[in-house]
This record gives sequence, structure tokens and C-alpha cells, in this order.
Amino acid sequence: MIHQYRHYINGQWIESTSGETFDIINPSSEEVIAEVQEGNENDTKSAIDAARDAFDKGSWPTLTPSERARIILRVAEFSEKKLEELAKLETINQGKPIKMSRTSDLPFGIDNIRFFAGASRALEGISSNEFLATGTSLIRREPLGLVSCIIPWNYPWMISVWKIIPAIAMGNTVVVKPASQTPLTLLEFANILQEAGVPKGVVNIVTGPGKTVGEELVKNPKVDMVTMTGSTETGKNIMELASKTLKKVSLELGGKAPFIVFDDADINAASSSAVEGGFVNSGQDCTAATRFYVHESIYTKFINAVVEKTRKLRVGDPLNDSTDMGPLISASHRTKVSQYVEIGKKEGAKLILGGKIPDNTECKRGFYYDPTIFTDAQQDMAIVQEEIFGPVLAILPFRETQDVIEKANDIAYGLAGSVWTNDITRAIKVTNQLRCGEVWINNHLPLASELPHGGFKYSGFGKDLSVYALHEYTEMRHIYIDTAFKTRN
Ligand code: NDP
Repeated sequence: MIHQYRHYINGQWIESTSGETFDIINPSSEEVIAEVQEGNENDTKSAIDAARDAFDKGSWPTLTPSERARIILRVAEFSEKKLEELAKLETINQGKPIKMSRTSDLPFGIDNIRFFAGASRALEGISSNEFLATGTSLIRREPLGLVSCIIPWNYPWMISVWKIIPAIAMGNTVVVKPASQTPLTLLEFANILQEAGVPKGVVNIVTGPGKTVGEELVKNPKVDMVTMTGSTETGKNIMELASKTLKKVSLELGGKAPFIVFDDADINAASSSAVEGGFVNSGQDCTAATRFYVHESIYTKFINAVVEKTRKLRVGDPLNDSTDMGPLISASHRTKVSQYVEIGKKEGAKLILGGKIPDNTECKRGFYYDPTIFTDAQQDMAIVQEEIFGPVLAILPFRETQDVIEKANDIAYGLAGSVWTNDITRAIKVTNQLRCGEVWINNHLPLASELPHGGFKYSGFGKDLSVYALHEYTEMRHIYIDTAFKTRN
């Protein structure tokens, strides 16, 4: 008997008005693991009305930061109690290795919740214009109102946390739409939010297609802001639709991170990080290392080290503790990834590893794809310019520093990148010229609750994580107090 889920609206589990449902697939076995409601515009409007009422008439926005934080800290505590259960469900639904769900996504998300609970209490407004004889001003950050949160399938629970928790910590209410492939951990999270004491209507969840549920969440005039992580194409569409009602928008979109290795870099550390950062979550990560610019003097040595370490990756059942790489999210996504590999071959890049469906029996069912490495790629090739979102690395040699900076920037995206060198002056000079929101020096991937995450250019705008994420979910208000009022009257 597969598990059946409903929408979570106004603190209640509700069926779609249409009665329609859809199946959720385990990408490692291709089996149906759950059935969820196929929401439509009417279901979405009900959730929006509940969130609107909870903001306009409910207690949540008027609680003190301390009172909200106490509840949110309980959300972290209860999530921690259910860590193992949530980690397994995330792995079964999304396909990522259990060790990643268990030791990275879940614990990091829980730390994010605790950070937002605490940091939201430390935010201050300022007073200004003190020098005027006639008055003074308060500049305050206040809740925006109702926030629509649109979630991708690569980090279903963690990115839900990144949107929901800072929004509600600042006194807003939310309607959340998970990606259609991966709604399960978010739906389970609703139970945790309820148990922790988040009042009804503050967090609402509607499952269903982007075209209906997602677009209603963007168009509806009762919504004040849309925050979304996903593809650049959908981000553009959201921005256009949101313009009709002049909503605030925050978008974390695609990426194609450069990984620049200079001749003095620690090749052992760089190659380990290349494998980890390139094949993380089967490459389905917007900050994954994808374009490797390697100084020509160490080019072959670096490639050999990366290939040797990649060969050791265990690809297979994500529930196995020793698996390093699980399947891709869906059959259609695997087709997209393998088409890019064919294009790479046609364009003349040298395929030196992978480029096929794994032949071990464990990968017979499921949407697996081998870790794949191209060398001798060229800057204008599709595998260098476009987001593949799969386990495909493209390696290119370079000679001059200025040339590599230009190549790293010669792309639509600008989310993340890394610079590998033992020369700190060079590291800073190169970093200063990279057009991306996040640069790591001698590492690739680390995120922290305290540090902002978000892109430039076609990677979007707005920040997740850090106090800047809390700021995203506020409106700045200026209040002028006229101290000369009595004198004038
Ligand atoms: P999308 O951008 O289409 O999906 C992301 C979220 O947006 C999902 O919840 C989706 O819902 C929703 N959505 C889709 N269309 C609309 C719409 N018109 N209005 C409002 N919401 C909408 O990504 P895909 O799943 O199609 O993946 C395609 C590519 O996007 C990937 O191959 C990858 O390159 C990139 N991507 C980047 C991510 C990142 O972390 N930056 C995350 C995921 C994908 P639904 O699932 O119902 O379609």
C-alpha cells in the first residue's frame, strides 16, 4: 500500500478540488512510492487565502521575535528527532546517497533553522535624522506579508528550509510548492511544523504542476513576494508574470561553476575537491564544478588524478551506506544529460571516462548515469557553455591568467566558482575579477548558515542563507516623528 498525501492548507490535510492525484517515483528503482494531490488554481487560491488571513488577522506577524524563535527552535529539535526518517525519505524520493542526506542535507538544514531562529532576534532597525531640530526617523524592517516559495527537486527539504524558515522567522506567512518529482519530505515537514506550534495558515503546501499551481502562486495579487530556486527559463517566466502585480522576486537559478587550477595548486586537494564538487548529487547542483580550467603545465597530472579518484566512486543503490553517486532524478533528465554527452563528442571534446549508463546489475533499473569526463574541451562548446545538471565534467587547458579570467566570465551564468593556487595575491586578484556571487579559494562547495548564497547574471538575484536572507523577507519602512509638532501648534 503506497502512502497517500494531501495538500496542507490552513493546518488541515485537504484533497484537490478536482480529485486528481499523481504518482511519485523512486528514481533508483522506478517504483511508485507515493500518491499526491494534483493541485489546480482553486486549491492554490485556498492556500493563498489561508496564508493571507494568517498574516492579516492572525497572531504570527505580531508575535515578538523571541516568541517566533522559540517555536522555530522546536521545529529544529523535532526535525533532528526525525532526521533518520527524513533522510531515508529524501533518498528514496530524490535518489541522493543516504550518506549525503544523513550527514549533509538534514544536519545542515537543521543548523540553518537554528541560525534563522537566533539571527532573526538580533536584527535591528536604525534611527536617523537625529541632527534635525524638527524631528527624527525610525527605519525599520517589517514583514512583507505573504510569500510564495517555489522549490526545486535537487535539495527538496533543505531548500524548503532556506525559503520557509527565514520568511516565517521575519513574521511572514507562506504558501509552498515543491517540485512535482520530490514533494515527500516537505509534506512530512508539515507535521513537524504543526507539532512545533507553528499556527495554522502560517505555512501551507500545495502540490501540483508549475504551470497551474506555480503560476497561480506568482500571479495572484494577494501574494507579496515570490522566492524560487530552479532553472533560468522558469525564473524568467516567473519574473515576467510577477511584473503584472509588481511583486518582489528572489531567484536562485542555474549555474556553470568554473574551477580554476593554477600551476602552484595542491593537485591532490584540487583533484579530490573536483571529484566531490563535480559529482555531488550526481552533478544536479547549481554550484557543482563543471568547467575545469587547468594550467597547461599541470594539465595531464591533474586529469590523471581526477580520473583515478573518479574510478573509485561507487555508483548504485543510494540507500547503501557506501554509495557515492545515486541516479539522476528522472528518465527525461537522463536523456537530456546523455544528449549533451553526444553533443560533446560531436563537437570534438575527448571523452575519457563514462558517457554511458553504468553496466553493473545494481543500476539495471533506475535513472543511473556514469560519472563522465571530457578533456580538451573548447570554450564555445555546449558542454562548456550550458547547464547540463548531470555528472559531466569538461576540462580545458589554459596558459595566461587574463585569458582564464575572461573564459571563466564568458558565460551567461554567475553563481559560483573556485580558484586553486597557493599564491594569495593571485587568488584575490583573480577572485576580484570573477563575475559570480560566490567564490571559494582552495575549496569548492562549502556553504554555511551565516554566509549568503546567490548569484549574478542569469543565475538570478537575492540571497538564501545568512542575515541577508532574513532581509529578503522584509520591507523597509521609514517612520518620521515630528518633534516640533507642539511648538508649531
Ligand atoms: P524548473 O525551474 O522548471 O522547476 C523548478 C520549480 O519551478 C519546480 O517547483 C517547478 O514545478 C516550478 N515551476 C515550473 N514551471 C513553473 C512556472 N511556469 N511557474 C512557476 N513555477 C514553475 O526546473 P526543472 O525541474 O524543469 O529542471 C530543468 C533544469 O533546471 C535542470 O536540468 C537544471 O538545469 C535546472 N535546475 C536548477 C536548479 C538549481 O538549483 N538552481 C534546481 C532544479 C533545476 P514542477 O516541478 O511542478 O514543474
